[in-house]
Amino acid sequence: MKPHRLRMTHNLLLNYGLYRKIEIYRPHKATTEEMTKYHSDDYIKFLKSIRPDNISVVKAGSVKLNRQQTDIAVNWAGVLHHAKKSEASGFCYVNDIFLAILELLKYHQRVLYIDIDIHHGDGVEEAFYTTDRVMSVSFHKYREYFLGTGDLRMMAKVMEMYQPSAVVLQCGADSLSGDRLGCFNLTICGHAKCVEYMKSFNLPLLMLGGGGYTIRNVARCWTYEMAVALDTDIPDVS
Ligand SMILES: [Zn+2]
Repeated sequence: MKPHRLRMTHNLLLNYGLYRKIEIYRPHKATTEEMTKYHSDDYIKFLKSIRPDNISVVKAGSVKLNRQQTDIAVNWAGVLHHAKKSEASGFCYVNDIFLAILELLKYHQRVLYIDIDIHHGDGVEEAFYTTDRVMSVSFHKYREYFLGTGDLRMMAKVMEMYQPSAVVLQCGADSLSGDRLGCFNLTICGHAKCVEYMKSFNLPLLMLGGGGYTIRNVARCWTYEMAVALDTDIPDVS
């Protein structure tokens, strides 16, 4: 989860010239007030006491989508999908995805959250468990693997039946073949097919990063997915 993954991804985006087709924004720092919209006051107070610096949030992308300033917003950083209301879990301590979706709900009646990290996006699922305005679909390793929860059945007709007006796609790269933690066998092309497919619905799309522990592959995957989002071919060179 080291920020170096993001530095490598950003360098690849620069070297492929993809930066010319996107606008790059620095996210604002989340305030205590924002974080306690989901997390308990005590929990955030505890986190502040052990780690005084604030975190950046993916909410900035949602604001751009809500203002219709872009069709697709991307943030590979953060994306802590396991964080719970009052506890940290699996490298995640503040659920920034919750804040991003909360922002989208200001303008969208229904938001679909899709998670293709190898781990179950349980923190996001739990956060919106009692509302029908957010549907969470997580594809992940099932049983005998952190967290051991989730469901085997695949999504069918979700777009047709649920009819969301915005989509959040968590592109966790630990589901790729050769990941140091994950044990799936997805190719980068296969992983990116998810981006291509969800993009085909032409709804406001927030693309997020997530896990990914063989960092060369993480940078390759997210750069390629940015190219897919931009309908741009990039050469496959090593
Ligand atoms: Zn993961």
